[in-house]
Amino acid sequence: MAEKKMRVELLACTPNPEALIYAAFRQCYHKGFVGEMWPRLLDGEISAEQQRRFIAEVVNSGHTSPLEHVQLTFGVEGVSRALSHQLVRHRIASYSQQSQRYVDGSNFDFILPPAIATNPQARQRFLTCMDELGAAYREIRELLLAVGRTPAQAAEDARFVLPQAAETRIVLSMNCRALLHFFEERCCTRAQWEIRALAHEMLRLARDAVPVVFARAGAKCERLGYCPEGEKFTCGRYPLAGSRADGESGGGR
Ligand SMILES: Cc1cc2nc3c(=O)[nH]c(=O)nc-3n(C[C@H](O)[C@H](O)[C@H](O)COP(=O)(O)OP(=O)(O)OC[C@H]3O[C@@H](n4cnc5c(N)ncnc54)[C@H](O)[C@@H]3O)c2cc1C
Repeated sequence: MAEKKMRVELLACTPNPEALIYAAFRQCYHKGFVGEMWPRLLDGEISAEQQRRFIAEVVNSGHTSPLEHVQLTFGVEGVSRALSHQLVRHRIASYSQQSQRYVDGSNFDFILPPAIATNPQARQRFLTCMDELGAAYREIRELLLAVGRTPAQAAEDARFVLPQAAETRIVLSMNCRALLHFFEERCCTRAQWEIRALAHEMLRLARDAVPVVFARAGAKCERLGYCPEGEKFTCGRYPLAGSRADGESGGGR
């Protein structure tokens, strides 16, 4: 049993993401067939720069459904079950999460919140609690095995004592449109620290993979140019909604 740190890897991205988004957009406005345009796109007949300019313009206008054709898949470890419970609330996504039924939790690893890590007394109590829960899990698992439960059956009941801090691993896929929405919600300082850290790491990887879509992505204030969270919750980086004297509504994506 040990403290684990977050690790995020980009496992896969739809091939030729920018060309694909460009082709999808062009099919909306172009009389011809995209299948004939596709080889020319891949050959560079329409330059990457031209494609990016076109995509940026249309995305700025609010037409974002062609972004759904490109999907990114991330592998994540070193995050808590508290995080994964929030993550899977995002329904426009696909998830495969490490099972607490099939994976023995006798020596579960855990996530230590920074505010607890830097408070010596809280840290000590937290670590003692993790040890106690580990011991309870192993004891209950043994008691169930002793009366004939299979290892999977014993694990599926013993896991009820595992904490929200228990580490989990998860694979998640989202298309670019869903990711923009995810970043708008979870890169905001109102989001809980752990899922916010995950969102920022995913955004860093997404920016490298599909810069034209994610270069200016982030919390919703980045798109709006103002903070819609109200006085009580604003982080102060942007003016509050309705507080701009110049009447501007903010920049596009
Ligand atoms: C700061 C913060 C605090 C939060 N606090 C709480 C809390 O206290 N309690 C709580 O329960 N949750 C809370 N949440 C979770 C939040 O309510 C959402 O469930 C979560 O952020 C997923 O957002 P979503 O539904 O927009 O995303 P997705 O499920 O990915 O959906 C994306 C978009 O698709 C559309 N959509 C999806 N499904 C439907 C549908 N069935 N009908 C109509 N439109 C749909 C919507 O436009 C939606 O925005 C919080 C989230 C944040 C960021």
